[in-house]
Amino acid sequence: MTSVSVRDLTLRFGSLEVLSSLNLDINEGEFLVLLGPSGCGKSTLLNCVAGLLDISEGQVFISGKNVTWEEPKDRGIGMVFQSYALYPQMTVEKNLAFGLQIAKLPKDEIAARIKRAAEILQIEPLLKRKPAQLSGGQRQRVAIGRALVRDVDVFLFDEPLSNLDAKLRAELRVELKRLHQNLTNTMIYVTHDQIEALTLADRIAVMKGGIIQQLDTPLTIYNKPVNLFVAGFIGSPS
Ligand code: ADP
Ligand code: MG
Repeated sequence: MTSVSVRDLTLRFGSLEVLSSLNLDINEGEFLVLLGPSGCGKSTLLNCVAGLLDISEGQVFISGKNVTWEEPKDRGIGMVFQSYALYPQMTVEKNLAFGLQIAKLPKDEIAARIKRAAEILQIEPLLKRKPAQLSGGQRQRVAIGRALVRDVDVFLFDEPLSNLDAKLRAELRVELKRLHQNLTNTMIYVTHDQIEALTLADRIAVMKGGIIQQLDTPLTIYNKPVNLFVAGFIGSPS
């Protein structure tokens, strides 16, 4: 079953065409990595799926529904940004609860969802702390927790690890992999980091200049790059 479907998507900023008639189908529960150099249109594509940009032409479907003109909040998606965007004055628990309170969920339902997310992300001991009292990795987990408690179908990650040091990045890669194995959500993950893509992805979409050059499993991309660009960016040295 297709989770996210992008149809003939074109996105222009003024006269600059950033995405050109792009098509992409992502399976339910898949970990799909958008990989490519800076400026190739990864964030733009993600933001089109999220509903944060008005697309010039084309359509976006999520869970079979045409969401092209839906508000971000009605799309069944949760975004995790590079800058964690936590509310600094609120505790971790409050940060997790906030969106659910606005959505007027019952108190016990909110508590149950926070408990589950805190267990999965192993942040139970941090619930009473404020963001300033957390490490970068812990903040990142809380940011993921905010998407998790909302019970969304699709997680969108835009370079969530790029502000972290190499050791923490490696740790969180392992955690994200584990998280994906424990969840049924679809994940779309933007990065320019080949190692992240190879270790996390079920499939990788390699982008250049707003065009998907190749969409395949990490192994196929690595062993059988379709062109010199993909080969140079990620492929085998031979
Ligand atoms: P990536 O995430 O792959 O680094 P982006 O999607 O952010 O790339 O950007 C793709 C292209 O679109 C770049 O040339 C960038 O300068 C341009 N761009 C991105 N956002 C805007 C914007 N709001 N207005 C004008 N141009 C933009
Ligand atoms: Mg980007």
